[in-house]
Amino acid sequence: MVSQTQKTQTFLAQAPIPFYSGGNWVNARDGSIMEVEDPAEKQLLATMAKASREDAEQAILSAASAAPAWAARPAAERATLLRKLADLCERDAEELSQLEALDVGKPVENARGFDVPFGIECIRYFADLCESQAFEQQLNIDGMNARSVRVPHGVVGFIFPWNFPLTLCMWGIAPALAAGNTVVVKPSEVTPLSTLYLAKLMDEAGFPAGVASFLPGDGPEVGEFMTQHPKIKMMSFTGSSRVGRLIGQACGAQLKPVKLELGGKGAAVICDDADLDATAAGLAGAITLNTGQVCCTATRWIVHESVADSFIEKVKAELKKVAIGAGMVEGNQMGPVVSQRQLSTILDYIARGQAEGAELLVGGKAPDDAALQNGYYIEPSLLKGAEDNICFKEEIFGPVAYITTYSDDEDALRQVNSLDYGLANSVWTRDPARADRIARLMVSGNSWINAHNVFAYGLPYGACNASGHGGGVNSPETLLDYTRNLSIAEP
Ligand code: NAD
Repeated sequence: MVSQTQKTQTFLAQAPIPFYSGGNWVNARDGSIMEVEDPAEKQLLATMAKASREDAEQAILSAASAAPAWAARPAAERATLLRKLADLCERDAEELSQLEALDVGKPVENARGFDVPFGIECIRYFADLCESQAFEQQLNIDGMNARSVRVPHGVVGFIFPWNFPLTLCMWGIAPALAAGNTVVVKPSEVTPLSTLYLAKLMDEAGFPAGVASFLPGDGPEVGEFMTQHPKIKMMSFTGSSRVGRLIGQACGAQLKPVKLELGGKGAAVICDDADLDATAAGLAGAITLNTGQVCCTATRWIVHESVADSFIEKVKAELKKVAIGAGMVEGNQMGPVVSQRQLSTILDYIARGQAEGAELLVGGKAPDDAALQNGYYIEPSLLKGAEDNICFKEEIFGPVAYITTYSDDEDALRQVNSLDYGLANSVWTRDPARADRIARLMVSGNSWINAHNVFAYGLPYGACNASGHGGGVNSPETLLDYTRNLSIAEP
């Protein structure tokens, strides 16, 4: 068991942990608090002040008054502060990793190896980019002195989900701040801890008051209020397609720009010429990463009928090797799911999938390990059946894959594209031409070849259809998404 550092303990011991609004650490005006649970033990981890609409109003007003001065700062100064923040995140990487492991349930080694360093890299990426980005361009139009200027929107509201709270927050706010916006952030009420620790580091880095506020609170309360607020000039939402539709409708009614990064039901096409050992290892890794609570992961495995039996045997062997247990125990590869609610949702999907005719190949229950009875654990699970099954069609958000078979590539593509989701898919084959063709014809924001869950800065990570729109994250376009055009012209 990893020992909590002194700083982690001190942070968690605040009762409640205050939130950060307009440069101040405050408790809720109405005194509300929320409880944060450790999913590995089903025990209270921390209490946190819970923001209301009135608290959100204060944060939004201070973000609006901080916006002009922040936008007027030279990009190099914004970059310097972002780099300072990145350095502080690096200094406290262990605390951030521990909070992520405790709150989400993920293995602390994953948080140390991916969530935290990759988030820090994001901050540095956008710090560098905003310095090199030409936010202003002289236009060559006859008889006119004309310039095109990219200006920030003003206040951007962010709402985040619970599965990668820290990384997603960094992916969102780093480009927005770099582009000169101020931000109001609502983390998920399920996993707010690392986001509030990030707020602490922003405070220490010296960001001016009001440039970033962090408000843990309920979605239909604080999130909806932010979405409707006229001083929030742009919304950026990461979460389910269901809530994304609500946010999109509300922003549409106000003609407010919105970025939506939503749910997924990714497919993996396993061709008859695939390296089956590598494919089985890769997809077992994909479905157990973050206990399957990954928007873009491969949850529909569409396998060529000639290799299906062999592939299934190999992947079962891979899944057996996965060490399940508390995120704070080093060596564990898959933790609990985040909550009782999520566990019930997953088990309910598996039961409904079976009732609709699918065969449960492995999993579908808690591991047979007395040491794990205190947490929200489930074994990695495989179902096999027809396409007309709820587990093929709907996002489950757990370590569950649904296997179908196909006879030719057109049939595989038809299956991949039969749903409205469009986040990420992969194709597994030794034939580069076949890989390229299938990758281009799968309708989504991301097509990966012989791998799943591939991220890099400079590689846009976006979506289409029910998985969202707005240009995605992690690329130069993302920085510009957080600006609008201003044309200045003198004939
Ligand atoms: P969710 O949609 O239930 O909640 C997301 C956030 O929205 C939370 O902060 C919640 O409080 C808030 N919210 C809820 N109702 C609201 C309302 N009426 N108005 C405003 N805000 C509201 O999603 P979740 O269960 O937290 O996360 C899982 C979902 O997120 C999955 O569907 C997953 O695919 C998706 N996700 C997508 C991406 C991506 O990049 N595309 C990344 C991570 C997760």
